[in-house]
Amino acid sequence: MLCLQGPSTGLLCDAVPCPYNSAMAKSWKTRLVHSDVQVPEGYRSLASPVFRGSTTLFPDAASVDDSWDQHEVGYTYGLYGTPTTLELAGKICELEEGHRTIITPGGQGAISLINLAFLKSGDHILIPESVYTPNRKLAYHVLRRFGVETGFYPPEIGGEIKEMLRENTRLVWCESPGSITMEVQDVPAIVEAAHARGVLVALDNTWAAGVYFDAFAHGVDITMQALTKYVGGHSDLLMGSVTVKDPKLYRQLGATQQLLGSAASPDDCSLALRGMRTMAVRLKHIEASALQIARWLAGRPEIERVLHPAVEGSPGHEIWKRDFTGSAGVFSVVFKPDATKAEVLAFVDGLELFEIGYSWGGVTSLAVAYDFHRSKGRPDYGHRIVRLNVGLEDTEDLLEDLDRCLRRVMGRMK
Ligand SMILES: *Cc1c(COP(=O)(O)O)cnc(C)c1O
Repeated sequence: MLCLQGPSTGLLCDAVPCPYNSAMAKSWKTRLVHSDVQVPEGYRSLASPVFRGSTTLFPDAASVDDSWDQHEVGYTYGLYGTPTTLELAGKICELEEGHRTIITPGGQGAISLINLAFLKSGDHILIPESVYTPNRKLAYHVLRRFGVETGFYPPEIGGEIKEMLRENTRLVWCESPGSITMEVQDVPAIVEAAHARGVLVALDNTWAAGVYFDAFAHGVDITMQALTKYVGGHSDLLMGSVTVKDPKLYRQLGATQQLLGSAASPDDCSLALRGMRTMAVRLKHIEASALQIARWLAGRPEIERVLHPAVEGSPGHEIWKRDFTGSAGVFSVVFKPDATKAEVLAFVDGLELFEIGYSWGGVTSLAVAYDFHRSKGRPDYGHRIVRLNVGLEDTEDLLEDLDRCLRRVMGRMK
């Protein structure tokens, strides 16, 4: 018989004398598992404790329950989150001002959870052409196998999306700005058209870090973020969140997460919680640095266009001004038409401070060259587009790195 009277320190029999095992003479082998150790109570610190755990203990046999909504029924199983997971979920929800948040093991995991929670065979969904590529591939390769049809729409469609809504359209995805090509979407106009037909709108709000665009105030039903990016902030974890606006959506989402079994690690959640505490200062530095670099690049002879929502002339800049309260550090540049593919690659290779790699939102600046020759619906930038992630390095050093590399690799372009 276990004694489960201990308080939340997780140690058995550490506060209330236990009538069963205190009387028992235990072997050291049993003591390794059932210890009588007591630690002082009342510990407080500034760090969020990391509660790991699969098994969650119940006070008695009759209380055993595997319901997933631990806000309703108390803690039941590690899959639905320990206090560390729920603290992170609560803090994301508080920032986004939604109803509730569920933490997923990655941003892409958040996208698939949304699709699997709200779609069924025979449904139709709409996804912007500028969407994060794995979101597009999930629809095309997996959802299709389960009888969900996908239409792709131009990201700057606005209210005209009503022409693409069908009888069976269930969900419209938005991602604003879009990945790599950075188009800002008229989300309120899309929401209005979708809601007029009872269609849900889900938004990938990763670029805005859940703070620079108030999704729920703009009518969105479901948001997700890759917490991997600015919330984690140090390129050392993968994590995602889904936030919904009301209890009905939350019930559907939570029940699906339970059955998909997609739990995030409490250790990773604690890293995300630590990341959140410094996110405001990181974002502030990154915003200013990225804007300075983007404006400088826009004036360079080698560059045709800068795709940064907060820079004049970028696609959807006016909408960004209307709807957003800040900008992130990831943006793209398009080289002039005579830049060869070899030169664009040599530019990325030649940068010293910008490392080469996917993902973004960490402290290190990154550069990745893309090739959109064969990408349906993307503007015809061909091999000339490079996405930059501005990190926390000194802005003047980053400018010098870019300047030196542009001169060396593309010096002929005046
Ligand atoms: C990175 C990213 C994701 C996916 O996040 P992971 O945590 O890497 O799975 C989703 N959407 C956007 C816009 C992203 O940039």
